[in-house]
Amino acid sequence: ITPPATVVHSFRAAVDRAPDHTALAYFDGRLTYRETDALSDSVAGHLASRGIERGDRVAIMLQNTPHFVIALLGAWKAGATVVPLNPMYKSAEVAHVLADADVTALICSDRAWETYLRESAAGSSVRIALTACELDLQTRNDERVLGFERLTPPADADDLVAVARKGLPAPSERQLAATDVALISYTSGTSGTPKGAMNLHGGITYNAERQRTGHPVPEGACYFALAPLFHITGMVCELAACIANAGTLALAYRFDAGVVLDAFTEHRPAYTVGPSTAFMALAAHPAATREHFDSFQVISSGGAPVPPALVEKFRAGFGPYLRNGYGLTECTAPCASVPPEKEAPVDPASGTLSVGIPGPDAIVRIVDEKGADVPFGEPGEIAVSGPQVVPGYWKLPEATAEAFPDGELRTGDIGFMDAQGWLYVVDRKKDMINASGFKVWPREVEDVLYTHPAVREAAVVGIPDDYRGETVKAYVSLRQGSAAEPDEISAYCAERLAAYKYPREVEILPELPKTASGKILRRELRSQA
Ligand code: ATP
Repeated sequence: ITPPATVVHSFRAAVDRAPDHTALAYFDGRLTYRETDALSDSVAGHLASRGIERGDRVAIMLQNTPHFVIALLGAWKAGATVVPLNPMYKSAEVAHVLADADVTALICSDRAWETYLRESAAGSSVRIALTACELDLQTRNDERVLGFERLTPPADADDLVAVARKGLPAPSERQLAATDVALISYTSGTSGTPKGAMNLHGGITYNAERQRTGHPVPEGACYFALAPLFHITGMVCELAACIANAGTLALAYRFDAGVVLDAFTEHRPAYTVGPSTAFMALAAHPAATREHFDSFQVISSGGAPVPPALVEKFRAGFGPYLRNGYGLTECTAPCASVPPEKEAPVDPASGTLSVGIPGPDAIVRIVDEKGADVPFGEPGEIAVSGPQVVPGYWKLPEATAEAFPDGELRTGDIGFMDAQGWLYVVDRKKDMINASGFKVWPREVEDVLYTHPAVREAAVVGIPDDYRGETVKAYVSLRQGSAAEPDEISAYCAERLAAYKYPREVEILPELPKTASGKILRRELRSQA
């Protein structure tokens, strides 16, 4: 794979190939590649005129809107390193990242700026604010996508849309290279304080190219951004892969199953990637039909465990095969996926669905505590090296040395590899439950819960137990219109799992807590328990 140096190179190549093709589709609005190029040039010109230098940090805190893409390309064209912020972050989280990454410019929605970001930015290094009024979910009209701006931005901010329309040229001397830091991506924090992984431009274009060639759809096809763009999965597998393919990126603000199904009908996408919880929600939506999915050629589920029962339910109910994929922020998204002509096997002993085959160029080893290879079939920590692995965490030399001995990433995930090269993720090392000295991996128990007809979402955690040290507790949400009692769900699992593995306690919640990227937050449930 020989990718372009940066996403900006890849974008300019798409502008040359298909200037009048739709680059961004948002509800009724459309922007071509040529228009998107001019708008992002102008943002770059504005940032440069306000003193943004090469390598300065520009934070973007926006939902999946055209504004996000224009701001991102603009910041890169100005030579900046982008810090994507989760729009669900609260004041203290934002303040931590702004200070940690030494952010100079913040691009966000006007509502968020006025309600709390102005305060979070006060006293930080932020000296430039660009705000945008994002289209409300329910609003639809015939105007072009950038017609939704509020005309009077907050007094201490410039309006992103007005800036984008100024028609300024991008600074020509700011060309970035593959080895420049494109993003400081704060990990989703499912396991503690977020750390800023430094994703290089070359890592992004490498994985985007890998996604484009490994899961081919015709040039120019529509990619649906199901994963949030601030998260590495959306950024690489959707946005950067789409640009590499001169495709149309269809956006729908944020995940809402009903809105997304409507958008599938409207845009007829060929490709999408999302967390398994998004597919669970789509499959459980009362309006979902096979027709909603018939335009898809590739549907991948990545970034979180995929229960085998979901793949089967999805295929039986809607047609497409859900292709598992394994990745981390530190790997700039995927490092293993299911090749197009194959289907992922299920390990007969544990019932685990394989996450795919590593590579090309991603070297995945299963290692013991000392970093030595363990034999095929035996569990150990998953270690990854290759062109997409980040060089480390921003300003954290100790955490970097610990997570990347000799440049190889120790993922903190336990997995095994079969003799054919299929990789299986058992679970996260830190989520292991120790019940009377027996290891219980939550994912295995969750896979069984997902085969129960009433269960929509499941999460398993360890809770303190006087006798066993720890015991297994399951939290579940139920499918709409289904009923089940906790005891019955526990008994269902007891029939299918060893005595130390089945959840002795089951609690039913209306909805399980999730990160903005759609991962179920076991950590929150553990503290709740
Ligand atoms: P933090 O590092 O702050 O805890 P996070 O690990 O959730 O956040 P991400 O980089 O978004 O941050 O997630 C990577 C993790 O997601 C992997 O380490 C792995 O545990 C899990 N994961 C990703 N893809 C899969 C998959 N296909 N199957 C099972 N688990 C997966």
